[in-house]
Amino acid sequence: MAMSYGINTTCIYGEAKEQGDDKHYGALSYPIYQTATFAHPQVGVSSGYDYSRLSNPTRNQLEKVVAALEKGTDAFAFSTGMAAITIVMEFFSPGDHIIAGDDLYGGSVRLFDNISRKNGYDIEYVDTSREDIEKYIRPETKAVFIETPTNPMMNITDIRKMSEITKRHGILLIVDNTFLSPYLQNPLELGADIVIHSGTKYLSGHNDTLSGFVVVKDKSLAERVLYVSKTTGANLAPFDSWLLLRGIKTLGIRMDRQQTNAARLAQWLKANPKVKKVYYPGFEEHPGHDIMKRQARGYGAMLSFEMESKESALRVLNNVKLISFAESLGGVETLLTYPTLQTHPDVPVEIKERNGITESLLRLSVGIEDIEDLIADLEQAFA
Ligand SMILES: *Cc1c(COP(=O)(O)O)cnc(C)c1O
Repeated sequence: MAMSYGINTTCIYGEAKEQGDDKHYGALSYPIYQTATFAHPQVGVSSGYDYSRLSNPTRNQLEKVVAALEKGTDAFAFSTGMAAITIVMEFFSPGDHIIAGDDLYGGSVRLFDNISRKNGYDIEYVDTSREDIEKYIRPETKAVFIETPTNPMMNITDIRKMSEITKRHGILLIVDNTFLSPYLQNPLELGADIVIHSGTKYLSGHNDTLSGFVVVKDKSLAERVLYVSKTTGANLAPFDSWLLLRGIKTLGIRMDRQQTNAARLAQWLKANPKVKKVYYPGFEEHPGHDIMKRQARGYGAMLSFEMESKESALRVLNNVKLISFAESLGGVETLLTYPTLQTHPDVPVEIKERNGITESLLRLSVGIEDIEDLIADLEQAFA
């Protein structure tokens, strides 16, 4: 039985460092196999690789690291997070009913409403952080798709409890774990069947590469992902796989620092009279705080806050200098996002308003800068 590493060691080496592996001349950085195809020595004999859509050594190395981090048996790397979600949505058939969280990433909502519905799926949005989903389950229900914390309202769903319900009904629990990364939360260990990541965010960590992951711990699910992915072909390129391998090496220290900065900024915002409300699960009074304490190893580095008016929100967006007004999250640079326009333009206004995504809501993805510089920037932007 191989010794299992701690999480920071796993970020660098994966599950097991290969002893005496001289295939790569001792290179500490995994080589980029920039090749589309692989020659066969003779009929019926293979190097283990045939064609890079099916598998590629650099991508495989990345997939091994991500599978180990997420405590899965198999991980699959795709060109984007949306490609990963699209692959999983190919598991269903016309007439299938899927329960989805009602505060998901806007791109997932666009996919579900405009592509999945066209394929005959019945997608029903439910606030999984508050409602008992059992009453929504019908014979046609095949899956529950959630994010926790949600985007951007930071609502928390109890993954363990949810998995008890989905297991009882024999349906899949799919968790988009992008907001916390495997460093802070492992949904497969809490009973989820499929974990999804936008690797563009914390895993890559430098706002420079797009990627997505599907991670499973069940061989038959792994075979389904492999079949759909090799057939549809959104697999991650060798160079991008290498960038991800490189980014993941520092996942732990980045997340630690980002979380510390986020906790400080959450306090600063809470104390600011121009801020009406701060949504941050690290606050004891946050309704999901206790659940998150049980199921995650931290509160992450994302937070949202409500300004007193649309005008003051726009003023902050226009005035930040160090912090960038940009979409995306999870990287070393602190980003300020305007969810109603940037991440959630395709979510119907009634749903946005009901969920609290108003025109005065801003979202922060906190980076690794010096906290004094971040606070100074916000101070001048708020003035
Ligand atoms: C960004 C994001 C996605 C989509 O990922 P891309 O890499 O941009 O395609 C999916 N889910 C969540 C929670 C995200 O933040």
